[in-house]
Amino acid sequence: MSILDDDEELVLEDEAAEIQRIGLPEEEKKPIDPEEEDERTARIEFNCSGCEMHEMVHYFGRKPPFALGVEYPEDNYVMRDPFQPPPPRWQAKPEYYITLGTKCSICSKSVCKDTGCSFYYTSSFCLPCGKVELKNWPVEAQARMRKQLSVSRGSQT
Ligand SMILES: [Zn+2]
Ligand SMILES: [Zn+2]
Repeated sequence: MSILDDDEELVLEDEAAEIQRIGLPEEEKKPIDPEEEDERTARIEFNCSGCEMHEMVHYFGRKPPFALGVEYPEDNYVMRDPFQPPPPRWQAKPEYYITLGTKCSICSKSVCKDTGCSFYYTSSFCLPCGKVELKNWPVEAQARMRKQLSVSRGSQT
């Protein structure tokens, strides 16, 4: 009786191991994937029009492939977090990432997320466009924008 039980357990373990193997075919065949290495190189240039920020990023758009499940309401400049190791491919885990900036919805200039460079109300605006646009916004949004403008002006002097 006890021998039978052991057999059953062994079978189950084998099955589990089998499932794991099926999940990892690429990892086993080529541990160093030149394409994956390539994809980790940041190739998109991001220059903020409001400050000196200049970075190479990995992605521009709404759904970064390395940030699983993330979908932005507008296009964003996104980079992989350089201080975090990438998760193994077979693990469906989101990677650490940093959203650096976006494009102004009016003039399409790139702006970073800093409060001194961009403002978000229904979409992102660079501060110069936001200043022009704010008269069309509801009072709360105007107040928030004015407050942000005064704070960012204060921090720059
Ligand atoms: Zn900036
Ligand atoms: Zn603008």
